[in-house]
Amino acid sequence: MVEQARPLPRGKKKRKRYSLLRLLRQVYLPFGLLLFLFLLFMVQPRDPNLITISFAAEDREIPAHPQSTLHATSSDKAQWNLILVNKWHTLPEGFRVELTKLRNGHAIDSRAYPDLQEMMDDMRAGGLSPLICSSYRTTADQENLFSAQNQKYLSQGLSQKEAQAEAALLVALPGTSEHQTGLAVDIVDTSYQLLETDQENTPVQIWLHQNAWQYGFILRYPRGKTEITGKSYEPWHYRYVGKDAAREMHQSGLCLEEYLNDIHR
Ligand SMILES: [Zn+2]
Repeated sequence: MVEQARPLPRGKKKRKRYSLLRLLRQVYLPFGLLLFLFLLFMVQPRDPNLITISFAAEDREIPAHPQSTLHATSSDKAQWNLILVNKWHTLPEGFRVELTKLRNGHAIDSRAYPDLQEMMDDMRAGGLSPLICSSYRTTADQENLFSAQNQKYLSQGLSQKEAQAEAALLVALPGTSEHQTGLAVDIVDTSYQLLETDQENTPVQIWLHQNAWQYGFILRYPRGKTEITGKSYEPWHYRYVGKDAAREMHQSGLCLEEYLNDIHR
């Protein structure tokens, strides 16, 4: 009986060792694997696009002298900030603008740059995560965008005329995009990067809709002004008009077309 009882502790020990091994396998191995994956993720370079299109505080290192200089030859230099470009007003012939290039490949009119930088800095300081996803476009950029959209509709079986009309609803015809002025930026919330109406509910847009005017920017295509602006509501597209005009437009609720009509009256 005694001898029969002896194997029991050994069996218990075995089970104990066995369960220790199981514990190792079930807990430490997966944990180690997770740790390994986490480290791998941390070490791996993140999406270069995400890094490059965000304004970081260190963007201040951008040289004071613009890297790309297309000199401004606006006929009315005093009104450079109020230039009107829409589907009825094309970019003036020979339009040129002095740009400040951002380290991310984006660029804006050098005269609007300090206010844009200040606005982005203030948003970040307030805990927001804005992301510039579009800025200055050359005519060639705009042509490429338009032709890609047109091609998409053609491949869906639309006629040339239909495809062009449909494409024009989404992408401005070359020469009619405000992005070609260097005064427009599309800003989204990093947490929601879709150019859709719901963009208006993001913390970044809620802040921008209330405060962008203080930095000289206006929401260029507000809701309910489509007939006047020629563009549907875009809660992400901001246009620099300077602080005075932005304040007046903010107070009056006028869009750029209405405002220009008013001051020219
Ligand atoms: Zn835009």
